Amino acid sequence: MKYVLVAVNLPVKNLFRQFLYSLPEALHQVEEGWRVIVPFSTQKVEGFVVRSFSEPEAVSLLKRENPLFSVSKVKPVIAALGIRPWFSKEMMETAKWLSRYYMCSLAESMRLFIPGKTSIKKKPVYRDGRLVAYEIEERLKARTVLAYTITESGRAALKAGSNRAKAQIKALQALNDAVGPLDGKEAEQKHISSAVLRTLAAKGWAFRTEKRLLRNSYDRRAEQMETLQLTAEQEKAVATVKASLDIDFEEGKIYRAPQEFLLQGITGSGKTEVYLRAAEYALQQGKQVLVLVPEIALTAQIVKRFQAWFPDEVAVVHSKLSQNERGDVWHKMRNGGANILIGVRSAAFAPFRNLGLVIVDEEQESSYKQEERPAYHAREVVRCRCRNSGAVLVLGSATPSLESYQKAVSGTIGHLRLTERPGHSVLPQVELVDMREELAHKNYSVISRKLRREIIAAVHQGMQAVVLLNRRGYSTFVMCRDCGEVLTCPHCAVSLVYHADEQVMRCHYCGNTYPVPHTCQSCGSRRIKFFGSGTQKAEMEISQMPGVAVLRMDQDSTAAKLAHEDIIRRFAGKEANVLLGTQMVAKGHDIPNVTVVGILAADSTLNLPDFRASERGFALLIQAAGRAGRGGKPGRVVLQTYNPDNEVIALAAKQDYETFAAGELKLREELMYPPFSEILKITVADKEEEKAWKLADETAAYLREQYQAAKWERTEIMGPFPSGVAKIRDMFRITIVVKSRSMEKVKSSLLDSRFRTVKNLYFDVDPVTAI
Ligand code: ADP
Ligand code: ZN
Ligand code: ZN
Repeated sequence: MKYVLVAVNLPVKNLFRQFLYSLPEALHQVEEGWRVIVPFSTQKVEGFVVRSFSEPEAVSLLKRENPLFSVSKVKPVIAALGIRPWFSKEMMETAKWLSRYYMCSLAESMRLFIPGKTSIKKKPVYRDGRLVAYEIEERLKARTVLAYTITESGRAALKAGSNRAKAQIKALQALNDAVGPLDGKEAEQKHISSAVLRTLAAKGWAFRTEKRLLRNSYDRRAEQMETLQLTAEQEKAVATVKASLDIDFEEGKIYRAPQEFLLQGITGSGKTEVYLRAAEYALQQGKQVLVLVPEIALTAQIVKRFQAWFPDEVAVVHSKLSQNERGDVWHKMRNGGANILIGVRSAAFAPFRNLGLVIVDEEQESSYKQEERPAYHAREVVRCRCRNSGAVLVLGSATPSLESYQKAVSGTIGHLRLTERPGHSVLPQVELVDMREELAHKNYSVISRKLRREIIAAVHQGMQAVVLLNRRGYSTFVMCRDCGEVLTCPHCAVSLVYHADEQVMRCHYCGNTYPVPHTCQSCGSRRIKFFGSGTQKAEMEISQMPGVAVLRMDQDSTAAKLAHEDIIRRFAGKEANVLLGTQMVAKGHDIPNVTVVGILAADSTLNLPDFRASERGFALLIQAAGRAGRGGKPGRVVLQTYNPDNEVIALAAKQDYETFAAGELKLREELMYPPFSEILKITVADKEEEKAWKLADETAAYLREQYQAAKWERTEIMGPFPSGVAKIRDMFRITIVVKSRSMEKVKSSLLDSRFRTVKNLYFDVDPVTAI
């Protein structure tokens, strides 16, 4: 008898144990990596096989756990899902690493690799009114179509020929030539009717099968492939990546050359071109390519370029795909139906037949980090997969994360640079405008006189402008002029945002809306003021400029599926000449006609109390500025600030990443922040504030005790203190932050303790913010 250890896929976060099951004769092919159905208390549930055992091994394992338990009591596996293991060896290894590194159970980390959360459903089967069994069906029902294949006698008929049934001969010829089964639609394109196919089947010349129909909701509008003459820098980057793709991978062997690269290229330097050539080479070698992008709708241009280069090879996953569509994409990648996968962070878990190259575009983007548990970072997941499969990893960015930059300058990973824009394009000129002076000149608008002039001049010449408005700094809040009270959400400790078009106050955390107040909730005063200015107000001011037509892109206008992409397409098609919006307008797009970029409230992201605030603020400013002057026409950027002496702003204006990074790294080293330490954020959430504090205090006390006993190298335990947002949806939140150079020890001391499975306690490894 064979036995298997199974991680049960239940939506229970704290089930760290795995369970032993026996394998009936019929399921002896089942090994590590298979998905199975097992009995679990009174239910039948899905599980993942994480190990298999011979009988003696199973016996000794059981004896160790419980001397009284006998193998005969072990329940058998009910069924296997699919006809082969879902997890390859490399996927298994990655799942195991992920559960250790991100402190979650193996079932939780393995579930990430399955398209959809609960992918099976049970259908009760009754006989004579009695429940006799559960039939387990795959929820990911494949959509199939009828298709036809030629039979031996069909071939003979084709050979013999016939003068009477021309249509049938034509159909037979088509079936004979087809690589796989031919479905009705394909036949139609060849002018063969399905009636003829049915006749062939009736004669035994063809047989009917079902073919899986692959859905792809991502509507592709193919573009012409254009091949550009590479610049010397691009050439060199491509050659280096190609050379490392040439190194054959053998499991367990150490490479000579680095298999991981930072491709640091200024905005508009043509990083996409490097990706395309590297991908082409990997494909020639029969390898598959994964391209991660921060948000699919914002990177439609990358998708299009890849589709133009590799018309039948590209599959796309974005967050709005249905579970079935995602299942289809996974199926395609595993079977080689497509060899390039472009997707958002969840694509890091797709199965591959032969993964050879992974590209992470805009690798510094925080959208690669999942905020819910397990709080993985897609860049780290693919790094692990590359290590386990020998694939080459390319991280692309104009403003790399300081973690990646540090690795590149210290030689841990390869460093490829693109320092110029190709052709006649140059980086735009940036001009700082001090908004305090605008006030002094009685300009009370959110738009400076300078930016106003630039926008009007650009549209007058038939050019376009992009205006970035930072939501954080500019969302409208309501404050009492008498007592200073700010209107906040009663369920979440954040201020409410005024939405002029709907006439409501909305909480951006829980989504609840409240009526606009006429009196102060605290002192009753009627002197209430609306502060700040949202996109709506800026839109009004800009749209009143002569010759201007505005398109707005922000969270409120982009709820619909792929709406971002639509707005960008309309803007690129010159339906409007000014694009206005939050963060999103700063990213990814390449529109040659944009010559002016305005950045309102450049300071607002820099002032957040977080160690990554400068890094993120700087990256945003550079990205926004980088939208200008990409088409050979010189670009101009107007950067509005209340704080022109701020060093980060000054460096952003010079677009000097190197100096910024050097200064920031020095600061991080002094304060022992990443990449010079690792951070673990522990959050306690509870409806009762007192309970939350109690658990947080206990956790912190335990950590301090452990620290005393083990003397972890360079470790600081901070807190507990109320979280950055101290209450969300009525849950009080308390945070403990651990900074350490011995993070592995810190993690294992927690995983060995009762805190591993305590409810309401959340671990965030390498958090995006420490507040
Ligand atoms: P990045 O992603 O680095 O910001 P892109 O890849 O979007 O830059 O390229 C910016 C623009 O430069 C695109 O319009 C692209 O077609 C063009 N480009 C890239 N490489 C070349 C080249 N070698 N010669 C001419 N134009 C190029
Ligand atoms: Zn008041
Ligand atoms: Zn709220």
